[in-house]
Amino acid sequence: MARIWSYTGETGPEFWPNLSQEFYEAAQFPLQSPISLSYEETQLLYEEIIFHYERQRFHIKNQNDTIHFEPANKGSFIDFLNKRYYLTDIHFHMPSEHIITNEQIPLEFHLVHKNNDGGLLVCAVLFYLTEETAPLWEDENSEFLFDPSLLLPLNSGYFYYEGSLTTPPTEGPVQWIVFDQKKPISSFFIERFKTNLFPNNRPLQDKRDRTIYYKK
Ligand SMILES: [Zn+2]
Repeated sequence: MARIWSYTGETGPEFWPNLSQEFYEAAQFPLQSPISLSYEETQLLYEEIIFHYERQRFHIKNQNDTIHFEPANKGSFIDFLNKRYYLTDIHFHMPSEHIITNEQIPLEFHLVHKNNDGGLLVCAVLFYLTEETAPLWEDENSEFLFDPSLLLPLNSGYFYYEGSLTTPPTEGPVQWIVFDQKKPISSFFIERFKTNLFPNNRPLQDKRDRTIYYKK
């Protein structure tokens, strides 16, 4: 399939809405992502997100915009605000798309979840690079066993807001959970996947007057 959108030039982010009717309609959703986050502007959230992740089989897929890790089944899911969302895709952006207190860092993982009504919830985890951490997995195959909870920070607070997908079609609403505790990741991971796909971060979008919550 030909790549019809990109991160630079004539098919770059500012032109995405012009590239197809579907992209245009998705861009009309007013609360787009990513956004810049800061603690001062948040309201407190009391609701916990509950993770039920398990070690399971994933397939690696290169879908032009980034590398995707797709779970083979619905074995991993989360419960949030009385809804259950199943993990459907893991991928990453370099550098990070979300900015917390004006800091952009090298890598942002997106754990994409869907509920049975098609509602989307994405968990974002920010990573810095280190030489010292072991690779997340050693397997060189396109199919591997992996526990997605290894990507989650321990005891982290998180921002919660309503936004959109950050790749076309940039449809919404998407429930966003952005953890503020950064995790280390082996620079080996980056070397392995370093290709001309990157950088692949959508520029920051207007926050408008949306409510942003923070859970301690
Ligand atoms: Zn993403």
